[in-house]
This record gives sequence, C-alpha cells and structure tokens, in this order.
Amino acid sequence: MATRRILLEDDPMLRKISKPVTIFDSNLKELIKDMISTMRKEDGAGLAGIQVGVLKRVFIVADKNETVAVINPEIIKQSGHYKSQVEGCLSLPGKVGLVDRPNEVVAKFQNENGEWVERTFVGFIAKAFCHEFDHLNGILYKDRATMMFDSYEDYDKYLKSKKKKEQK
Ligand SMILES: [Zn+2]
Repeated sequence: MATRRILLEDDPMLRKISKPVTIFDSNLKELIKDMISTMRKEDGAGLAGIQVGVLKRVFIVADKNETVAVINPEIIKQSGHYKSQVEGCLSLPGKVGLVDRPNEVVAKFQNENGEWVERTFVGFIAKAFCHEFDHLNGILYKDRATMMFDSYEDYDKYLKSKKKKEQK
C-alpha cells in the first residue's frame, strides 16, 4: 500500500474523460487501496482515479460510517437538494466553493470484484458521489460552483458579513 501524488487544478489531465474499467485484477485492487490511503492521509471524503493520474472510471467516496469503491458508475436517479455549507477537492487544496447537489442519488456500479451493485446514497455521501462522478467526465466542482473562495477563512468572512446584512 502506498500513497500517490494528487494532480492539481491546472493539470490538463483532470479535464480528460476516464475510460471504463474492463479488467478486475490485483492491479485494480492495489490502485483502490492506494487511493483509500491517499484520501485518508489528505483527510478527504473522496478521490477519483484521474486525480492520481489513472484515467479509469473508478473512485472512492467516504463518510464517517463507510468507504465505498465505485467502478463504472451510472446515476439512475437523483432527487432533492443537499443544503451544503461548502465543498472542497484534494486537487484544489485550501479552496472551497458552494455547489448545488442532490440529496439523494440512486446509482448502479461495479465493486472491485466486478459485481454490479445498486445503491442509494443520501446526504453528504450523495454529494461526494456526484463530485467524484464529475471527475470521471473531466468536470471540476469549480465549474458548477455558485461561489468560490480561496480559503475556508474567506468563506467564513463571507458568512459573517452575510449574517450582518440579514440582521439589518
Ligand atoms: Zn475532487
């Protein structure tokens, strides 16, 4: 198990469309293990293959209860609105943005053994799922963000000034 280098925002690789996974072998399992340890080391909630330079339709999503490896996903249905505070990305370290995401996602995907699963994700992990799904299609969350901030502190300042305005 090893951690891998994460590609950053301006890397043209991040804009490519990832290709379907066709071989479910020990290399894929190794990649998934590496991605999980890389994500945990960086304290992330998700990581896509493309972010570590692997142009395959595979990503990891996690919340405090579970970590799921997702391969060749399709979104079957999405609904609701996740009232998110902020969203971040390990390829855009430090930055945060406001993004509208669904609150519930029904998805079909393969696990690391190639078996198809259908699952419903709700809340935080649904939002993370959509963020990672976008990576497979060369989309970064800043493309969808209604507002972007260079740091969490900037976001915090924005929140406070917004509150002040609302009190007036
Ligand atoms: Zn990301």
